[in-house]
Amino acid sequence: AKRLSRNSFQFFDRSLTEGALERLITEHALRGAVTRNELRLQYQPQVRLSDGALVGVEALVRWQHPDLGLVPPGQFIPLAEDIGVISEIGTWVIAAACQQLADWDRQGLHLPRIAVNLSARQLDEVALPATIATTLQAFTLQPERLELEVTESMLMRNPDAARALLSELKRLGTRISIDDFGTGYSSLAMLRILPLDQLKIDQSFVRDIGADDNDEAIVRTIIAMARTLGLETVAEGVEDAEQLAFLSHEQVDLGQGYHFAKPLPADDLLTHWRERLSP
Ligand code: C2E
Ligand code: CA
Ligand code: CA
Ligand code: CA
Repeated sequence: AKRLSRNSFQFFDRSLTEGALERLITEHALRGAVTRNELRLQYQPQVRLSDGALVGVEALVRWQHPDLGLVPPGQFIPLAEDIGVISEIGTWVIAAACQQLADWDRQGLHLPRIAVNLSARQLDEVALPATIATTLQAFTLQPERLELEVTESMLMRNPDAARALLSELKRLGTRISIDDFGTGYSSLAMLRILPLDQLKIDQSFVRDIGADDNDEAIVRTIIAMARTLGLETVAEGVEDAEQLAFLSHEQVDLGQGYHFAKPLPADDLLTHWRERLSP
């Protein structure tokens, strides 16, 4: 028996690179992450630039891994998509965000809305609108308090299907936001036929405000585009006062970024942001 196990070890040793073995282990752990209750949400404030009021938060998922600690989404969401567990994770995220919003309501922190990120795979799920509708009902939340973030590139993969799905979500009454705007290839014509509410200026453009006049021209163009479409604008990745001044001057509606707050656990948001709500 001893020799057999040694042989099988050698077999694995030769056929799997270290990276592949690591991936297998992570994959196995990730499959059970939802049932083991290892996922967490953190919440990043979205602030109205005209008066500094807290108008909402974006929910961002993390994986509380028993050995690795708090794993950021960039390190497991792509894997979750590959191995087919993103739907389960996505459903958990929507439910957890809605539950948190309802909990805050009860605790006297009445946030107008919460935003969640959808993945490309979720857009292909026929059951998505029904899942969302059921969740909103379960927590008796008005649909417009839930905002769904989809990236430009997700929509461009299959514009007709995306349009049909967004229309269905819009009929439910949820808000729809275009994430990472400016990094994809959508046209004004395309955006015009989608039922959108908000456009998030990608942080790569915000980062260079104050450094590069070309980027400032791009940001101005994006803002003008959003205004033409009648959409609310959010600047992501706002890190300093100079960027904030520029964005305020350009009359961007909302800001999100480390300058205001990092993504926070629910309790921290409650204690530190309560007084920033609009009366
Ligand atoms: P995203 O949707 O573009 O989220 C913004 C990311 O920028 C977050 O990283 C946030 O922590 C970070 N960020 C916020 N403010 C600043 C800033 O001032 N400076 C800089 N440098 N970064 C800032 P995070 O939480 O690591 O999330 C990364 C990406 O993972 C997200 O990008 C989103 O695409 C994805 N993601 C997060 N949560 C979920 C989820 O529940 N489902 C899905 N499908 N994807 C998610
Ligand atoms: Ca987002
Ligand atoms: Ca983004
Ligand atoms: Ca400049």
